[in-house]
Amino acid sequence: MLDNPETEMNFKSAEATRSQQLFAEASEYIPGGVNSPVRACKSVNQTPRFITRAQGCRIWDADGVERIDMVGSWGPMILGHGEAHIVEAVKQAAETGMSYGAPTGGEVELAKLICGQIKSVEQVRLVNSGTEAVMTAIRLARAYTGRDYIVKMDGCYHGHTDAMLIQAGSGLMTGGIPDSAGVPEAYAALTLRLTYNDQTGLRDLFAQMGDKIAAVIIEPAAANMGVVPPQPGYLQLLRDLTIKHDSLLIFDEVITGFRLSASGAQGYFAINPDLTVLGKIIGGGLPVGAVGGRRDIMSMLAPVGPVYQAGTLSGNPLAVAAGRAALTRLLEQPWIYEQLEQKAKEIEVCINETGRETGTLLTVNRCGSLLSVFFGTGSVTNDVQAQSADRTMYTDFYARMLNRGVYLPPSMFEAWFISAAHQPEDINHIKRAIRSSISELK
Ligand SMILES: *Cc1c(COP(=O)(O)O)cnc(C)c1O
Repeated sequence: MLDNPETEMNFKSAEATRSQQLFAEASEYIPGGVNSPVRACKSVNQTPRFITRAQGCRIWDADGVERIDMVGSWGPMILGHGEAHIVEAVKQAAETGMSYGAPTGGEVELAKLICGQIKSVEQVRLVNSGTEAVMTAIRLARAYTGRDYIVKMDGCYHGHTDAMLIQAGSGLMTGGIPDSAGVPEAYAALTLRLTYNDQTGLRDLFAQMGDKIAAVIIEPAAANMGVVPPQPGYLQLLRDLTIKHDSLLIFDEVITGFRLSASGAQGYFAINPDLTVLGKIIGGGLPVGAVGGRRDIMSMLAPVGPVYQAGTLSGNPLAVAAGRAALTRLLEQPWIYEQLEQKAKEIEVCINETGRETGTLLTVNRCGSLLSVFFGTGSVTNDVQAQSADRTMYTDFYARMLNRGVYLPPSMFEAWFISAAHQPEDINHIKRAIRSSISELK
């Protein structure tokens, strides 16, 4: 059915009757009908498609419609859905016990894989989500430096821990005000904000308060305001300033880890942070997060040091089995990264060409196998420019792509994720859908 994306039948089959029913029922029992807000598809005015199964790069909704998945569970499914080695590893793990609350050899193996691949990570602690890992990284940075201030970049997402839910504020020296109800202002005041890619702002902030800053946390390639790559020299400046002022540099590699390269964004850009936060891919599709870094910092964690951190299900045998299988497969096939990049590039070129041919103003930002399109703007290097893109056009584009069998992220502020399971014919289908959909935009 996907072979001819233009048929009438395909458009008809894209009705979401069963998903609508499920969503109505879900909304009765789950706030907003979803367990994570973006899934509600509000920003693209759609009923969320309830999913029944996925295999490779294909995903099926409750109405039986098959699509090409460009979300990949927001990154973890870099090898595609139902990858045989991961499935087998999880099955085997399930048969020998779901959880013990005691250490296992599998945790040692996953930790060794991570430390072996990411040079700046000498020790790693496994947790259950990216959010949890960020929370621990911040606590560690504060304990290690004896300072309270954390710097974050506007538009970077670091999970839903209080200190990171900060958006507005008034200038350099002002702490942020909370971006969510329920975050005390006093707490938010310890989070300082800067604009992504703003080197002057960064220099000024360090000149004024460098000796009070515990850490800077950043997505080394931003992928939660749409994709925004770091400009040349930006990450190096961050590294130099944090070293000069004895502040820590935390790379949030929850998306970029094992995606931009087998050594993450830090390998890709050749910048070593002090602490690294991981998640998504390292769990192979099951809930895992990790914080890792220099041994002298990591050894501040309990039970060795005074920084408390714990987790009943941390290092869960199933999650660890899935993560080990995923990382092992990635490392066995190092050419995957080059292929992912090529596929993403093909899509980038196609969008740019179609934009030119149809006279549609747009920008494609791409970093490795992550990309996103911003309509109605010519350049996006930070969150303000990202916010200025045309949401109505993305909403229109999203619906047209959905009807042509392409499941894109339901927000223009999220990355499109390419996986190893996307075959040339899938990429061709996506390109045809892009050409038709962009030509129809008003
Ligand atoms: C997804 C994400 C997180 C949060 O991870 P969860 O597992 O959803 O808590 C943190 N940082 C970045 C960069 C992310 O993309």
